[in-house]
Amino acid sequence: ENKIYSFKIVIIGESSVGKSSLLLRFHKNQFSNKCEPTIGASHVQKTINTFDKQFQLLIWDTAGQEQYHSLAPMYYRGARGALVVYDQTVRESFNKAKKWVDELKTQVSQNVRIVLCANKSDLENKNVDIEEVKTYCEENEMLLFQTSAKTGENVHEAFMGLIKLLPNK
Ligand code: GDP
Ligand code: MG
Repeated sequence: ENKIYSFKIVIIGESSVGKSSLLLRFHKNQFSNKCEPTIGASHVQKTINTFDKQFQLLIWDTAGQEQYHSLAPMYYRGARGALVVYDQTVRESFNKAKKWVDELKTQVSQNVRIVLCANKSDLENKNVDIEEVKTYCEENEMLLFQTSAKTGENVHEAFMGLIKLLPNK
């Protein structure tokens, strides 16, 4: 069977946690130290063949609107999956991630598939207890990946983990 599965995926989380960097790593296997909050707003289209199926992903990145803690309804509309990202060196960004999870469930659907990325795993100064995060993810039935857009650690795995959760029957 040659059915193509098309899905919209959104990446959300506080400003500067590394959302655009994760997308750049996944899409082009690149990393940049430059922060370019206004350049984003891009949709990346990516075709992936996996699990004997073809997935056409439309991945939405924000253009910095997330700093106002509200995203336009069109940003979420039709999204089937989300990568929610926080920065392991910034405690507040994990609190915000939990709020984004709640918002996704109310704005999109209780069924939206969510993967949590604990990003910047390459940095030493962790300010969030990973055990607390694991407990949160277990309670909310979410997958957790400790990622680094800088080194590439677990970035592919996080996106693939999300794809695996998408309906494909
Ligand atoms: P966004 O606002 O969430 O899209 O965050 P950006 O992708 O623009 O990243 C913000 C800053 O963090 C940039 O300077 C990036 O280079 C840096 N950054 C992103 N991901 C990582 C990471 O995994 N490790 C480290 N050390 N820096 C990162
Ligand atoms: Mg960005």
